[in-house]
Amino acid sequence: MKAIKVEKTASKGIVMGKAFLVKKPELIINTGLIQEEEITRELNRYEAAVAKATNELMELAKTNSIFGAHLEMVKDIALYDSVTRKIKDKYNAEAALEEAAAEFISIFEAMDDDYMRERAADIKDIRYRLLCNLNGIDLNPFDSIKEPVVLIAEDLTPTDTAGLDLRYILGFITRDGGVTSHVSIMAKGLGIPALVGVKDILKETENGDFIILDAGRGDIIINPEEEAIARYTALRKEYEKRQLELAELNNFPAETKDGRRVHLCANVGNVKDIKNAVNYNIDGIGLFRSEFLYMENTHFPTEEEQFLVYQEAAKLCGSELTIRTLDIGGDKALSYYEFDKEENPFLGWRAIRISLELKPMFKTQLRAILRASAFGQIRVMFPMIISVEELRTAKAIMEECKAELRSENIAFDENLQVGMMIETPASVMMAEDFAKEVDFFSIGTNDLTQYMLAVDRGNKRIAPMYNSFHPSVLRSIKRVIKAGHDDKTGHDGKNSHEKIKVGMCGEFASEERAVKILLGLGLDEFSMSAAEIPNVKNIIRNTSYEEAVQLSEKVCEMSTLEEVYELLGI
Ligand code: PEP
Ligand code: MG
Repeated sequence: MKAIKVEKTASKGIVMGKAFLVKKPELIINTGLIQEEEITRELNRYEAAVAKATNELMELAKTNSIFGAHLEMVKDIALYDSVTRKIKDKYNAEAALEEAAAEFISIFEAMDDDYMRERAADIKDIRYRLLCNLNGIDLNPFDSIKEPVVLIAEDLTPTDTAGLDLRYILGFITRDGGVTSHVSIMAKGLGIPALVGVKDILKETENGDFIILDAGRGDIIINPEEEAIARYTALRKEYEKRQLELAELNNFPAETKDGRRVHLCANVGNVKDIKNAVNYNIDGIGLFRSEFLYMENTHFPTEEEQFLVYQEAAKLCGSELTIRTLDIGGDKALSYYEFDKEENPFLGWRAIRISLELKPMFKTQLRAILRASAFGQIRVMFPMIISVEELRTAKAIMEECKAELRSENIAFDENLQVGMMIETPASVMMAEDFAKEVDFFSIGTNDLTQYMLAVDRGNKRIAPMYNSFHPSVLRSIKRVIKAGHDDKTGHDGKNSHEKIKVGMCGEFASEERAVKILLGLGLDEFSMSAAEIPNVKNIIRNTSYEEAVQLSEKVCEMSTLEEVYELLGI
């Protein structure tokens, strides 16, 4: 029996089961020239790779139309001819495929038509599949999971989790990642217990080991003794009972003992998450991370594709749906778009910076959101804003889209609310100015903490320094809420409203030890993974606003983390 203790929880819950270790295939391709007598062998290797890919894609196409398009391409005679011709010119199969695919990719990329240009990404996917097949590499290491397991991996990307059969996943443990990195956010969204950034997990475990994962306590027990199994079985029962009790709060409002009502909303990444979130009787969706729609695709989603998703999302949500425009870059990549390698990707080309530069792509998204706004209460939100100029440019592009839709007689909500994430120190310092320009703020503490403290949110080496209770982060939150609430300027330039609503969609909104402070600082909306909602609601319903105000005032006077913790009894 071995035990590992982890300090921070990514997603709570207790599970037990067999370990399944995933090692992602490393694709090292041996390209080169061959002798005359090797031509037939290389042709046969390529034929076999194509036949295998065809079978795989036929299976995948049954549930996902993207793979139907890949199937057509893999069978395409022009690609096949080009590769086999090169093999006959004495290229080995890998080199022939690389050359032929590169030619096709450059042809597609040079086309005027958006749809055709995006086909280049399909060729890249097919090339990868064929190269894996040529080298006997298992393209989807998760395919062989056929029973419930605790998944152990270096890291899990959104694409990985999209390809997982979640019926078999009891929990995740990853070597990399931090509690606000995307693997954690995904685990919470899926309601799967998870611990991340567990440095030695791949060294300490083997396939088939029996694992107890108590993510809430940060415990991993490898090959436990009977006593430990019995103890954690009892803890699991207790945990499940508590969850059932909390679920009874679903029908009650998020209101303090002395009557302060706040909004409790969900963070989601797709329509499936919304279907789950509405079961919690939410006050709305405070963050729809639209980038997942881009990441789980093989091309930039078209206006129509996006419109259909946003429309369905708005209808399902039934209350306010906040769609954040594309927040890509940093640790979020696209398989079909090559980002230049950057020294500091989190300080690089990401989020609104990309949207403003790739204007046609941005307009496609804004038009889709606007069109969907005719079918529900949609709000739009811009990520990672650092300047008033940026915000104004984004809003001007949105006005352009509105004008186009008007001239095309396409309906949209003329009063659609526009907001911004507060997740950079610049936006905190300028909050009073920004408040004059938007309808709402949403504080993104995941990024705000990393930028305020200059501590990478995914770097496990400095993970203990990443802490949203740091006085600078708490004071930033205070300042932003005050700026929002003091502002009276409407878009007409007159004093036409009371205040602008300030929400929080970073993970800190569901940090149980922070809820009282946030409440006391006046936060209007708490947005989090749906599974966290009952717990936070329970805290709010058992707190008095007056007490919370007093506590938050004191907390914001503290100079050190230690003093903050002491005051909070942590
Ligand atoms: C945040 O930064 O707090 C946030 C909600 O955005 P993301 O986690 O998607 O970067
Ligand atoms: Mg962010």
